[in-house]
Amino acid sequence: MGGTFNPVHLGHLRAAEEVAESLKLRQVIFMPAANPPHKSSVGLVSFAHRWRMLELAVNGNPFFVLSDLEHQRPGKSYSVETLTQLARQYGGDEELHFVLGLDAFLELPTWKDYRELFNLCHFVVVARPGFAPESIDTMLKTQVGDSYFFDSQIQGYVHQNQYVVYYREITLLAISSSNIRNLLASSRSVRYLMPEKVEHYIRQQGLYR
Ligand code: ATP
Ligand code: MG
Repeated sequence: MGGTFNPVHLGHLRAAEEVAESLKLRQVIFMPAANPPHKSSVGLVSFAHRWRMLELAVNGNPFFVLSDLEHQRPGKSYSVETLTQLARQYGGDEELHFVLGLDAFLELPTWKDYRELFNLCHFVVVARPGFAPESIDTMLKTQVGDSYFFDSQIQGYVHQNQYVVYYREITLLAISSSNIRNLLASSRSVRYLMPEKVEHYIRQQGLYR
């Protein structure tokens, strides 16, 4: 699961939990972007802070792990490079699933070499308030390839290369990092939107004020 995690919140964690359960994934790797290509650096806290907050968030869950692959690489954090690296690392032993929200999925055509991503891994698209799942079908057919067919048994679009784009209607949580940053900037409560330990860390470090 990639993202900026600026900061991590319960929307991310619950999505990962439900996807892992639904697809029986062995583990979820959270992959914070070191230099997100599409996000302005205004309001973006350091990688070290975002990493620490993720550590606090996944602590105690042995199925959730972190990767700093994108921090080790110089320059912008392009997913196509990360997935290529992961595919090489895990080889044929594991099946990689790229977990992302429907909002992010619909943005894919703006990502570097996005078509290549569909040859590197499965996708698990999760519901996000305000985004219609029908748009997945249109996006795949107009921007990726017309060789997808929907398999209702697995609730996913199968490509001839065998990779699947799953859609999962998870518990809708209208939580976003941008909203949390806005609340913090206006000294409002962010309680119950994120793990308590993350909230404490933000206060202690004086982030997002
Ligand atoms: P921002 O508002 O800064 O964009 P965000 O809350 O969207 O932050 P990101 O780090 O951009 O968080 O998201 C990482 C991934 O998690 C994306 O694929 C995004 O779609 C997904 N995601 C984020 N929040 C939710 C949520 N509440 N429910 C489902 N998916 C989510
Ligand atoms: Mg986002």
